[in-house]
Amino acid sequence: MTDTLAIKITKVTQSRLASVDFENLQFGKTFTDHMFTADYANGEWGNFQIVPYGEISISPAMSSLHYGQSFFEGLKAFKHDNGTVSIFRPDKNAERFNASAERMCMPTLPEEIFIESISTLVNLEKNWIPNQANSALYIRPFMFATDPFLGVAPSTTYKYMVLTGPVGAYFSKNLNVKIETEYSRASEGGFGYAKCAGNYGGAMYPSKLGTQQGYDQLMWTDSKDHAYIEEMGAANIMFLVAGTLITPTTRDTVLNGVTRDSILTLAQQWGIPVEERRVSVAEIIEAAQNGKLTDAFGAGTAAGVASVISITYKNQKYDLPNPAHSEFTQRLSKTLLDIKYGRIEDENGWNVVV
Ligand SMILES: *Cc1c(COP(=O)(O)O)cnc(C)c1O
Repeated sequence: MTDTLAIKITKVTQSRLASVDFENLQFGKTFTDHMFTADYANGEWGNFQIVPYGEISISPAMSSLHYGQSFFEGLKAFKHDNGTVSIFRPDKNAERFNASAERMCMPTLPEEIFIESISTLVNLEKNWIPNQANSALYIRPFMFATDPFLGVAPSTTYKYMVLTGPVGAYFSKNLNVKIETEYSRASEGGFGYAKCAGNYGGAMYPSKLGTQQGYDQLMWTDSKDHAYIEEMGAANIMFLVAGTLITPTTRDTVLNGVTRDSILTLAQQWGIPVEERRVSVAEIIEAAQNGKLTDAFGAGTAAGVASVISITYKNQKYDLPNPAHSEFTQRLSKTLLDIKYGRIEDENGWNVVV
């Protein structure tokens, strides 16, 4: 990685590393010693800094608090057995970062700045990447509007920041999910494809209702008719039906996941038939009924592959085969991890070594 950005680095005087219990990491609660920050003003990005992780001072009139010009990314860095550290497909996150920025009427960030901010920070925090199996360093880049102005208008100033924190192995239990037929996560012409803050705030209430009813996740459907499956929780959804991998096409209501893209690429390379198209609730229920639906799983950076064990639609529960016995799901999750940890050849060039 070339050093082209002038990043001013202020290091902590005392690292918190020794006080971290790496055996009991909870996602999103532990942060490394430093964070990256940059400011946008007068039409350009500047003030690139790495500073000790800590609170920042903001105006209570800060426009992102009131009108939601705010979005984020999520990706991970992995430590290989030989000590090499790599970040998984950050170019894809840079691309999506700017897709979110454009939709939220916010400034884009040159891909070099995105990549360099992340790799410089990860490099500085290398010692924080856990050695425990299947642990990683979670990377959270985000941008928000900072004008202290209550007018409903795009802000003229913004902050771009990156936080990093160690995360443990994600033991995803098999999920009991409900097909949501009342609430929607995203609508046509909307911004479901952007990783903007409001999408997640708006999903919390229906998700809470689902949890109260005993479901682990919601399968989101189209907002018009609730007849087509779009996503699951904050992950893409995939189905293996009679040996064909089927997933909803990315569109304005479906986020373009990096894990989704990686899985589709691997499946194609393995010669598994892949269909990206609209996926109706009716066909999935029928496939579940006649036993052709052998695998269903969420795909995302946090969990990797998160298997579904049952699908409930209109109070009717359909059980799926145990994913532990699925050759496809097992091969898929193992291969993804093996690539990220450098245990097998990275044939697609997905790992960016720091
Ligand atoms: C982040 C996210 C995903 C998964 O994207 P990855 O790049 O694979 O992590 C899918 N759907 C939604 C709604 C998301 O927020």
